[in-house]
Amino acid sequence: MIHAISAQVQSVAPPADRPEQKELITSDIMKCSVHADKTVIMVCRAQQCESCFVCVLCIAGSHNGHKMATIGEVGRMAKKRLQDTFTANDKYLDDQKRKIEIINGMQLADDMKQKELRQLMETQGQRMHETVDKVIAHMISHYDFKYERRLKELDCTKHLIREDITRVQSSQDSLEQTLETDDWLQIVEDEKKLTTTRKVEDLPEDITLGVTAEEVNNNLVEGILSAL
Ligand SMILES: [Zn+2]
Ligand SMILES: [Zn+2]
Repeated sequence: MIHAISAQVQSVAPPADRPEQKELITSDIMKCSVHADKTVIMVCRAQQCESCFVCVLCIAGSHNGHKMATIGEVGRMAKKRLQDTFTANDKYLDDQKRKIEIINGMQLADDMKQKELRQLMETQGQRMHETVDKVIAHMISHYDFKYERRLKELDCTKHLIREDITRVQSSQDSLEQTLETDDWLQIVEDEKKLTTTRKVEDLPEDITLGVTAEEVNNNLVEGILSAL
C-alpha cells in the first residue's frame, strides 16, 4: 500500500511549498497524496485503484462511484491476513524444526545401527579368524605328524651311523699301533682279536615329503566345511 502511495505521489508534480513526504504520514493521520491539505478517510476498493487512500475530494472526483471501505475495515482485513500468514509461518517453522528433529533422530539411529553392524561384523570376523586358525592347526597337525616321524627316523639312522663310526674309529686306533711294528707274533694275535666288522647302514630314501597346492586347497575347504 505504501508502494501504491509513492507511485501516486510521483505521478503528481508536488508544489514548491509542499511538505516533505515523510511528514505526510503519521501513525493515524495521513494527508492525501493528490490533495495535500486533505486527510485520507477511506480506501478505494476498485480493482484498478489498488487499495489507494483517498480524501473527500478524491471520492467526489476521480474515484467517484468506486467501492469504498474505511481504513479500519481494510486495516483489520489486512491484519487478519498478516495474522494468518504469521500463524502459517509459525506452523511452517514448527514443521521444519520437527523435520530437523526427525532427521536428527534418523541420523542417530543410522549411526547406532552402523556401529552395531560394525561391531557385529568385527565379532563375526573374529570368530572366522578363530575358526580358520583351528582349521589351519588341524590341517597342519596331520602333516606335522608325518614330518616329525620322518625326522625321527632320519635322526635314528644318523645315531646308528655315529655309533658305528665311534666303534670303527676306536679299533682303527689300536690297528694303527699294530701296523707300526713288525712283531709278527703280536700282529697275528691282534688280528685274532680284531672283531670289528663294518656295519653299513643304508642311507634312508631321499624322499622329502611334499604337499601339492591342490591338496592344501582341498584340505582347507574340507576343514572349513567341517568347522562351520
Ligand atoms: Zn484526495
Ligand atoms: Zn478508486
